[in-house]
Amino acid sequence: MRIEQDLKLGFKDVLFRPKRSTLKSRSQVELTREFTFKHSGRQWSGVPIIAANMDSVGSFDMAKALAAHGVMTAIHKHYTVSDWAEFVKSSDASVLNNAMVSTGTSEADFQKTKDIMALSDDLIFICIDIANGYSEHLVEYVQKVREAFPDKVISAGNVVTGDMVEELILAGADIVKVGIGPGSVCTTRVKTGVGYPQLSAIIECADAAHGLGGRIIGDGGCSCAGDVSKAFGGGADFVMLGGMLAGHTESGGEVIEQDGKTFMKFYGMSSQSAMDKHSGGVATYRAAEGKTVLLPFRGTVNNTIQDIMGGVRSTCTYVGAAQLKELTKRTTFIRVQEQENNVFGKE
Ligand code: 5GP
Repeated sequence: MRIEQDLKLGFKDVLFRPKRSTLKSRSQVELTREFTFKHSGRQWSGVPIIAANMDSVGSFDMAKALAAHGVMTAIHKHYTVSDWAEFVKSSDASVLNNAMVSTGTSEADFQKTKDIMALSDDLIFICIDIANGYSEHLVEYVQKVREAFPDKVISAGNVVTGDMVEELILAGADIVKVGIGPGSVCTTRVKTGVGYPQLSAIIECADAAHGLGGRIIGDGGCSCAGDVSKAFGGGADFVMLGGMLAGHTESGGEVIEQDGKTFMKFYGMSSQSAMDKHSGGVATYRAAEGKTVLLPFRGTVNNTIQDIMGGVRSTCTYVGAAQLKELTKRTTFIRVQEQENNVFGKE
C-alpha cells in the first residue's frame, strides 16, 4: 500500500485570481477555438463545450439546438441506426459536424458505429466511452477503430491520469475524455471508493495530452459556469456537461408532474433507471453506480447555454484573455476554503 501525499483539487477548492486587462467588454472575448487533430488531421472550429452522451441530455434535439451556438453534443448510444438515418436526413452539415457518435467497445458496438458513420461524411467525431478506461481492452479497441476510420476524430475514455492519457493517444485517440467519479448523478466514489478530484485530473491529463499533440475533454463535475471556466483554465480543451444541460425541453427526459410543478427525470448511465431501461435490469454481479433525480423543468436550453457562455466570457475578461485559447495561460488559481455566499440561498 502507498499513499500519495500531495492534495488533489476539485473545482470547489480554487478561484481565479483576477489580472489586469485591456479588455473593455466581454463581447470582445472569442470563445470559438480551432483545432487540428493529431491522428485524423481533421480541423474543427466551434465553442468547445459538449453535451454529455447521456440519454436525458445528448439527444438529437439537443444537437440541433446547441449547434446553433457552435456547441457540440455527444449523442447517446441508445438510438438505433434507423433513428440516425432519419436524423442525418433532417440535419444540415453544421449539426452533424458538431455531433459525436458514442459507442461502447463490443463487437456489436463496432458494427453499429460503422453503419452510423456510413450514413454521412459530415459525421466526423466518434466517442468511445466506457466507465473504466483503464481496461486494456479499451486500448485495443481504440487501435481497431483508428484502423477502420483513419480520418475521423476519435475520443476515448474515461481516465484520470497522465500515463493512461498517453497510452490512449499513442493507440490512436485524438482526444481523451477525463473524469472518474465527479458527475452530478455518479455514485462511483461511494460505491467503489475510486476517483480523482476533477480539476487536478484535468491539469495533469492536459499536460500529458498536450505533450503528445493530443486533446482532452474535462468530463463531469461542473455545477455552474464558473466551474466550466475553471476546467478550461486548468487546461481542458473541451468541457462536457451532463447535469447543467439536463432538465430542458431538448434534453429528451421523461416529464413528471408533481404537486402542480413540472419536473424532468435525469439519471446516471450506470444507474438502476438506465439499466432497467436499456439492459433489462442491474446484472447480479454488479452494483448501480449512478442515481436518479427529478429536476425542476427549465424550458429551452438556449438561455442556459447563453448563460454558461456569458460566464466563461466574463472569466476571460477578469483575467485578460481575449480568446478562450489564452485562458489557461492567463490562469492563476488560488486555493480557497469558501465559494459562494449562501446567506440568501443558492444561485
Ligand atoms: P455532470 O456534468 O452531470 O456532472 O457529469 C456528466 C458525466 O457523468 C457524464 O459525461 C459521464 O462521464 C458521467 N456519468 C454519467 N452517468 C454516470 C453514472 O451512472 N455513473 C458514473 N460513475 N458516471 C456517470
